[in-house]
Amino acid sequence: MGTTIFSQMSQLAAEQQAINLSQGFPDFAADSQLLAALARHSSAGLNQYAPMPGVPLLLQQIAALTARCYGRVLDESREITVTSGATEALFVAIQMLVQPGDEVLLFDPAYDSYSPAIQLAGGVPVHLRLEAPDYRVDWQQVATRLTPRTKLIIVNSPHNPTGMVFSHADWLALQHLVAQHGLYCLSDEVYEHMVYDAAPRLSANCYAELAARSVIVSSFGKTFHVTGWKLGYAVAPAGLMTEFRKIHQYVTFSSFTPAQYAIAEMLREQPQQVTELAGFYQHKRDQFRQALSGSRFSLLPCQGTYFQLLDYSAIAPELDDLSFCRYLTIEHKVAAIPLSVFYQHGSNARIIRLCFAKQDTTLAQAAEVLCRL
Ligand code: PMP
Ligand code: GLN
Repeated sequence: MGTTIFSQMSQLAAEQQAINLSQGFPDFAADSQLLAALARHSSAGLNQYAPMPGVPLLLQQIAALTARCYGRVLDESREITVTSGATEALFVAIQMLVQPGDEVLLFDPAYDSYSPAIQLAGGVPVHLRLEAPDYRVDWQQVATRLTPRTKLIIVNSPHNPTGMVFSHADWLALQHLVAQHGLYCLSDEVYEHMVYDAAPRLSANCYAELAARSVIVSSFGKTFHVTGWKLGYAVAPAGLMTEFRKIHQYVTFSSFTPAQYAIAEMLREQPQQVTELAGFYQHKRDQFRQALSGSRFSLLPCQGTYFQLLDYSAIAPELDDLSFCRYLTIEHKVAAIPLSVFYQHGSNARIIRLCFAKQDTTLAQAAEVLCRL
């Protein structure tokens, strides 16, 4: 396993003093009430180990959020665990569900932490390719890739890096597949609150038969603009969650205590911040797309997440996407992520990913540069 592309590109961006639209994180401050709450809870002495499953106040708020957004009623003491980022939740879920030799279906382009976690568990990642420009899943094709060893399917909607969002029909097809073949599902929903154009907010939480066999993962880093806090959570039926916690207790045991209290307070006192997130990022998406409309890049659809894919084949078809990203960072001082790194066997597509979780001025500056290419 090599060094992740996110470390590579952020380091190159820093060396080159480039505008960093590569690794996905906001360049603006989190809400001042959240930051004040963190300081207050820490000053009040809440600095020792949290309970292993998470601070009860936060578990209650996660249950309330899940009920508000998806109508699912959770037993907060048995079906939710707070983790050190979604990354830990994904890792623990995979170690729990995958035994040596088990096959795991996942879709390329895939977020980069899934496959290494499967391999560490002794499992076999089975990559199915999604194709530009829409990156929709062909569920009939998925069914043909099942074998008696298939144990788990990993899905990610809204999808990093493509911005694709599952429709109701996608979720139903997934539920059918999982139920019919006795699979488990790991549903990575870290961008769940960033769905645009008034599309319905759907989740594995909305489908009871699917939820009964799923671990659902989310991240407060995305929702509250604090990726560095590394605070996320997993939701699963009590039986699965019991097994999940056996591993979580020996990976991190518990996560940063004052942040758990601070996020719980925000969810209780400012619940509208979660619902307003989609509008906030949709505005950025629209402004950024508008600013790039005069460029020679062609813009792929973006239904969710804070990522925009750009096809640069009209600009430098001779360069592969990693070379193009290095060229863009070094020569033009805008850093991006090549799409091919999210594929098991690479990709010849001339497509890069840009993060628009940035201040309007940052996006405008970057767009100005990109329009000159
Ligand atoms: N899954 C996806 C699809 C992501 O994009 C990310 C982070 N960017 C994560 C998981 C990890 O989230 P966290 O930072 O909370 O560990
Ligand atoms: N998920 C973030 C992205 O896609 C990066 C997270 C990381 O650096 N590990 O850019």
